[in-house]
Amino acid sequence: MSADTTPTGAAPAGATPAGATPAGAAETAMADALGRIATAGHLLVALDFDGTLAPEVDAPRAARALPEAQDAILRLVALPDTSVALVSGRALDSLIEVAEAPNTVLLVGSHGVEYRVDGEAEVSLSPEEQKLRGALETILTETAAPYDDVHVEEKPAGFALHTRLADESVTDLVLAEARRRVAAEAPAATERVGKNVLEFAVRSASKGDAIARLREITGASAVFFAGDDVTDEDGFRALAAGDFGLKSGHGDTAAAYRVAGPPEVAHVLDDLAELRAHLGRS
Ligand SMILES: [Mg+2]
Repeated sequence: MSADTTPTGAAPAGATPAGATPAGAAETAMADALGRIATAGHLLVALDFDGTLAPEVDAPRAARALPEAQDAILRLVALPDTSVALVSGRALDSLIEVAEAPNTVLLVGSHGVEYRVDGEAEVSLSPEEQKLRGALETILTETAAPYDDVHVEEKPAGFALHTRLADESVTDLVLAEARRRVAAEAPAATERVGKNVLEFAVRSASKGDAIARLREITGASAVFFAGDDVTDEDGFRALAAGDFGLKSGHGDTAAAYRVAGPPEVAHVLDDLAELRAHLGRS
């Protein structure tokens, strides 16, 4: 996969400037900011899963967080005044399966539509939303049916078309047809674009909504958020002064800091767990 590729001039440790600062200065700034957030009164560590904790794989069910990341998560969630949440575009059931996280870790699925809090899952659709979801199912399964390399993922609040295995001409054709039919037959649905995935949902929620809600649920005084995809940008934009945004991989970002990919994210989480365990809270 190409997720580990850094932009030009990357230092070996993997910290690269999100702006135009030299790599060394960016690393120092990131280390300083990490040291500051480690002392937060109540820290929320919110993490995207795929491409951030887990390297991208072709079979979504085979994705697992890197051992170093999983270890850091378990150490963080065991610390006092520290909450950990996984915030994913996956349906909650799928996230539960791949995350292998204890009930003390908060889970957010479907970009903020579903939550698992204290081990309890919650989502509920109105009759109108259920009807719209049925229309989306018909449209997307019919659109994908002629193509072996395109598959439809069922989500609690909608459906997603996956084109990772399809070639570009098929992808273009399928996406155009899906958009045309949704606009005509299910115009109330909202569209979300990700890496090789086009999702239509009956309820609009974003990772920004998820960060805001998690801040409320946990009473966090500072938030650390890491993500790799375009949908994570809503999360980065929901951060405020004193928070910490970490972009995994390349692409434009609103995050203040960037590393090359999941192995480097794991290092940062390991450092954060170490700092917070030793510095304690101010
Ligand atoms: Mg991701």
